[in-house]
Amino acid sequence: MTGHARAADTDVVVVGAGPVGLMLAGELRAGGARVTVLERLAAPTGESRASTLHARTMEILDERGLLDAWGTVPRAAGGHFGGIALDFGGLDSRYAGQWKVPQTRTEHLLGERAVRLGAVVRRGHALVGLRQTGSGVEAETEGPAGRSRIRAAYLVGCDGEDSTVRRLAGFAFPGTDATRELLRADIAGIDVPDRRFERHEHGLAIAHRRPDGITRVMVHQFGRAAAPRAAAPGIAEVTSVWAKVTGEDIGAGTPVWVDAFGNARRQAERYRAGRVLLAGDAAHAQMPVGGQALNLGLQDAVNLGWKLAAQVRGRAPQGLLDSYHDERHAVGSRVLTNIEAQATLLLGGPEVEPLRAVVTDLLGHDEVVGHLAGMISGLDVRYPVGDDGPRGGHPLLGGRVPHWELATASGASSTTELLRAGRGVLLDLAGCLPPGAGAGWADRVRTVTAAPAPADGAPSRPGTAAVPAVLIRPDGHVVWCADGTAGPEAALRRWFGDPHA
Ligand SMILES: Cc1cc2nc3c(=O)[nH]c(=O)nc-3n(C[C@H](O)[C@H](O)[C@H](O)COP(=O)(O)OP(=O)(O)OC[C@H]3O[C@@H](n4cnc5c(N)ncnc54)[C@H](O)[C@@H]3O)c2cc1C
Repeated sequence: MTGHARAADTDVVVVGAGPVGLMLAGELRAGGARVTVLERLAAPTGESRASTLHARTMEILDERGLLDAWGTVPRAAGGHFGGIALDFGGLDSRYAGQWKVPQTRTEHLLGERAVRLGAVVRRGHALVGLRQTGSGVEAETEGPAGRSRIRAAYLVGCDGEDSTVRRLAGFAFPGTDATRELLRADIAGIDVPDRRFERHEHGLAIAHRRPDGITRVMVHQFGRAAAPRAAAPGIAEVTSVWAKVTGEDIGAGTPVWVDAFGNARRQAERYRAGRVLLAGDAAHAQMPVGGQALNLGLQDAVNLGWKLAAQVRGRAPQGLLDSYHDERHAVGSRVLTNIEAQATLLLGGPEVEPLRAVVTDLLGHDEVVGHLAGMISGLDVRYPVGDDGPRGGHPLLGGRVPHWELATASGASSTTELLRAGRGVLLDLAGCLPPGAGAGWADRVRTVTAAPAPADGAPSRPGTAAVPAVLIRPDGHVVWCADGTAGPEAALRRWFGDPHA
């Protein structure tokens, strides 16, 4: 099956020009698919949302050559797990730490990239109907000129937590509703001390004064149930709960933005239903604790982009597109679990103090810090790509390729740089591949012979062991390591399809 819908207007319709939809649109274009993004808002939202990019997301942005546009990004080594200090500075990454970028800026830059690569972004067009045919998807939109239809081979819902795509395509979205919530407000004209996860007798208070003089406050009153909300809370509710928890009156301030977010946990049972897929918040709803929600969604998009592009171009091997669900559902489920654990530690009352004491104790051990930081940063994601299962085989297998400085015949390079084209890379580090290995896949996979650059010598780093050759997917994950027995052909077929004649 080539996946091409006859007489389609485009290959893929992406619904939602949030960060995930825009990242996906760029990845699809890099893979050679035609893309139209439908966005119901006429102009990008100015809402203050996620501000943390974790190490793996920063690596991915670098692997696409995007970081120059991001400029100087402030970094913080310190983070938290459920409000208990957790150091991200020791991660084995050039981007160890947490990076602070307003979501509006991330969206703007991802949007610029998608358009530069040729994606069509139609703002002011809401998806209102959706029909799958045998060979494609027909989407009905409501726009400035009324209703219209667009046909594509595939459609991806990146339309956020209340996803219309999820509803129209009938995806099951099991999970639990919010039982507790944090109230949040950006307020001008108040003067309260900065607080990082300060636990009081009656609740939790957080405050941070920004350089522009606006203070963001977040507050939770222990035992207070999440309210059913059709709209954001009023500022009076925030100031009243703040007073109960801290004893301070912030009622004289001017609210700039008020919202509430709860500990709901839901995940689509499948990320694919025929020719319709979900990514980002449309696929998983979670409390935005520890800045993971946005990063999880961006990494969904990078996993899906090259696979779906290969599918619509008729080059995807059997099962490639379904590996998106298999890989990302499992990662999402694990992240949702750590978020739930953190929400319990954060919003639980005095009853969680013993648990907090134990976790605080555990966080005194480097191995625990490494484990949790690896999980939250996304660096420890390891897909089950080999025959040995997710934890078997070479230590690199299934994980992301580290940044290795390389010396090639055409000069200095690195694994990060080799991934910039968004194609697979067959990297021969020991001159061990027979001449012509990978030649049948040259249109999809670049074969590079290189030596570890002396300054780095990365392949002999602890944990990576000497590896003579690796096959790297466009999303940076290693799917084959030379072990002196089998060559790369089976892995090339499995991930990139048949060789060309
Ligand atoms: C108020 C708020 C505060 C948050 N704070 C944090 C935080 O501090 N840290 C953190 O990590 N995460 C936070 N998040 C979560 C983070 O913002 C999301 O994980 C991230 O935005 C997900 O990106 P997305 O592209 O999947 O969805 P969204 O950003 O929600 O984008 C979805 C897009 O789809 C569009 N759309 C929706 N329906 C349709 C339709 N029918 N047709 C066309 N377009 C449609 C929407 O207009 C929107 O532009 C917050 C979210 C919210 C809502």
